[in-house]
Amino acid sequence: MNQEIKCFGCGAIIQNQDEKKIGYVPKKTIDNDQILCQRCFKLRHYHQLSQTSLTKDDYLRILQTIGEKDCLVVYIIDLFDFNGCQIQGLVRHTGGNDIYVLANKRDILPKSLKEVKLEHWVRRQLKNEGIKPINVKITSGLKKLNFDVIYDEIEEYRKGRDVYVVGVTNVGKSTFINALLKHYASVNDEALITVSEFPGTTLDLIQIPLDENSYLYDTPGIVNSHQMTHFVKTEDLETIIPKSEMRPMTFQLKPEQTLYFSGLARLDYLEGQINSMTCYFSRYLQIHRTKTINADQLYNRHKTLKMEIEGMSTIDQMKTYEFSIKNGKCDIVISGLGFITINGKGGKVRVHVPKDVWVLKREALI
Ligand code: GDP
Repeated sequence: MNQEIKCFGCGAIIQNQDEKKIGYVPKKTIDNDQILCQRCFKLRHYHQLSQTSLTKDDYLRILQTIGEKDCLVVYIIDLFDFNGCQIQGLVRHTGGNDIYVLANKRDILPKSLKEVKLEHWVRRQLKNEGIKPINVKITSGLKKLNFDVIYDEIEEYRKGRDVYVVGVTNVGKSTFINALLKHYASVNDEALITVSEFPGTTLDLIQIPLDENSYLYDTPGIVNSHQMTHFVKTEDLETIIPKSEMRPMTFQLKPEQTLYFSGLARLDYLEGQINSMTCYFSRYLQIHRTKTINADQLYNRHKTLKMEIEGMSTIDQMKTYEFSIKNGKCDIVISGLGFITINGKGGKVRVHVPKDVWVLKREALI
């Protein structure tokens, strides 16, 4: 394909090789005079912003460019995978600009969880990450939760400056920007989106005018490759990413028992007393309990237990992590897949995951 063809929406070089990369169009649409990449097409016609990804270097360049400006950074994080969705070095790279944190996907957590409690939890976690935000708002892009306050606060905090929206892929950045687009939709749709070039990258960013002199920029997401979402097939994402309130499932687990999570991950309870383990995963994920002694065999024999992970067919290809459980509550997080709240009475667990998927222990969210 001619490398010089550019999307007239965002300026990205048109390509038909990789749907997840910028400038993608399906082959059949390439004959048109004015080509819109798939991302811009969806944006114009359906007000949908689809995810694109960048190389780490391009992404760092974008963050550094943000660091050279005087602006407000809107940092979107996903409450479902708080730790897995952090942008490493965000504060360092954005050069001391104000960071307004939107903690997204509140709708998938239990309704009974108080917003103020959640907000305090997010603030503590951000502190651990070295982030001192100008403010934190709990939200749900899908439900437009707290959006009126968020629009007002963006106006208040930006003080006439540009706004850059950042977040890793799948945190819901597009959904949020789509809502913003609609919020500003009194302006003609076509005029709403303009193109801006980001120096040093192959990328042109989508720019939404906020007023005569300032813009909101959507930055592309960076893929955090330690999230489970990047190991499953695209069609399985629907199953593992929760879209509605998670239905927690509690197991009274005895030592030497194992839980399988659709075969994508597994938790062995190695030692301790009977412990209550509450699993927060997508409601479509199958959780299967078995004896640890039979667990390897079960995985290797039963195809139905497992969603397919490329290049992995036997359990010994998974990586394991061990955690000791103290008295009190903690979460074991499997990045991008879900978490298990252990109401601990002491003990030890082992978690098996595809190599590179992060597993960690943290203060209980719920
Ligand atoms: P992006 O990659 O950050 O642009 O994320 P998207 O906006 O494409 O969203 C990624 C996935 O999360 C999609 O399946 C969305 O439907 C879903 N999503 C986005 N926002 C929310 C939300 O507030 N709640 C829930 N439950 N899902 C959301």
